[in-house]
Amino acid sequence: MSESQKKFDVVVIGGGPGGYVAAIKASQTGKTVCLIEKGHLGGTCLNVGCIPTKTLLANANVLEQVLAAQEFGITTGPVSFDFAKMKERKDSVVEKIRTSLEGLIQSNRIVIIRGQAEFLSPHGIKVKGIDNLVIRAEKTIIATGSVPLDIPAFPCDHKQIFNSSSILELKELPKTIAIVGGGYIGSEFASLYAEFGVKVIILEALPSIISLQGKAVSEALTRAFVKKGIQIQTGVMVTGIEKRDHGLTIQLKDKPPVTADIALICIGRTVNSTHLGLEKAGVLTTDRGAIVVNERMETNVPGIYAIGDVTGKFMLAHVASHQGIIAAENATGKNTTMHYNAVPAVIFTTPEIATVGMTQEEAEASGRKISIGKFPFQALGKSIATRSTDGFSQIISDKTTGEILGAQAVGHDAATLIAEMGLAITNELTVDCISETIHAHPTVAEAWLEAALLAEDSPIHFPPRIKQ
Ligand SMILES: Cc1cc2nc3c(=O)[nH]c(=O)nc-3n(C[C@H](O)[C@H](O)[C@H](O)COP(=O)(O)OP(=O)(O)OC[C@H]3O[C@@H](n4cnc5c(N)ncnc54)[C@H](O)[C@@H]3O)c2cc1C
Repeated sequence: MSESQKKFDVVVIGGGPGGYVAAIKASQTGKTVCLIEKGHLGGTCLNVGCIPTKTLLANANVLEQVLAAQEFGITTGPVSFDFAKMKERKDSVVEKIRTSLEGLIQSNRIVIIRGQAEFLSPHGIKVKGIDNLVIRAEKTIIATGSVPLDIPAFPCDHKQIFNSSSILELKELPKTIAIVGGGYIGSEFASLYAEFGVKVIILEALPSIISLQGKAVSEALTRAFVKKGIQIQTGVMVTGIEKRDHGLTIQLKDKPPVTADIALICIGRTVNSTHLGLEKAGVLTTDRGAIVVNERMETNVPGIYAIGDVTGKFMLAHVASHQGIIAAENATGKNTTMHYNAVPAVIFTTPEIATVGMTQEEAEASGRKISIGKFPFQALGKSIATRSTDGFSQIISDKTTGEILGAQAVGHDAATLIAEMGLAITNELTVDCISETIHAHPTVAEAWLEAALLAEDSPIHFPPRIKQ
């Protein structure tokens, strides 16, 4: 790197889905941009998050389909699988995307700097690592992400007690796994292991699993998990984990202990804001370390922005990327703001779960009169044809204005389905916009048409409500 390249218009710290998207967006305006990354490009999402977990889950989905082959008139003979090979496939998918991501970043004329960044002052950043240099930054976007939260009472040893990163290195399946935490990450791992025949026990402190997604969705997943043989203990507090010669004993407060071969700790994540020298730049954080930002993604220090998990808002890759776009636009002369009323969230369990906007409970608490249209996939031709009849799509709308406030889908292709409702809520559409849109037949998207008709009390493929 030449001397002249040590000064940049925009410096991005962290190469995850927040940081690299911000860098690309800033570079498209003609500014000089560098991206500092201390580990692998792609961050948590590509290396130990979204992509590796979904690659493993794709293996589980294929297995599930193969095991059901007879129902489609296909004879397979005995079915077996090799988990070590599945792990190899996962590694190669991650490696492939990482390589193409590096090419993409370079093709945008962004200078990649390898090392750990630390502020020396609001405009001075020191990098230590493969590259060692001091950079003068006109504008800085902090995108340093988060790491799994460790509990001092039972720290991960990554041999028997794992976190969401180290468990991805397992080459052999255990017979039993205790998953501490029934949020979306814990639930995805529970689904994955159960599909491979592992006995799964979820230990959740709250009264239900995935409670943030609302009651209807949480109950639907609980029912599906119980049907698969997953044991769910809610309202339990893990107080310690004892290692035995073979396996673990997990101690619970005021409850009998649980035994398992291994444990996975999924109790949340902590933001990466220490060792960044934020105090030297004067950047404020909350008492949990999250960097405080406004709706333009600006910190309290002019010219310094923060995006993604490190802001402690929604810990989702697409939110980090969108915040990255907003921060880059503001850092390069535009004036744009971030909105959170239509953030889709997907949980890649079997059944798949997707939500956007308000839950029923949130809509009710807002004091509006609401209308709910809930359509079961068992009444949908395409779902019956493909043997995917578990679950439903649900639209929550304002009874007076018809505005769509929230939507949830559980089951058949929910992850893809939710995009239509994201578009609807972002653009403040009403239920009649959905019921008046021609949806192709036979498709799963017809579930929204039917849910909208139900919200309007005029269903076509569902019996009418009995009027009192
Ligand atoms: C198991 C799991 C599954 C997930 N699945 C999904 C999913 O399906 N969909 C979804 O939307 N989200 C998912 N997430 C969440 C998603 O991965 C994160 O929300 C997303 O990666 C956050 O992006 P980010 O850019 O803010 O930070 P990160 O992706 O964490 O990237 C931050 C980067 O900054 C680097 N860094 C940190 N400090 C420094 C420093 N001082 N100097 C230089 N570099 C530094 C880190 O090495 C890292 O590469 C999942 C997470 C986990 C753990």
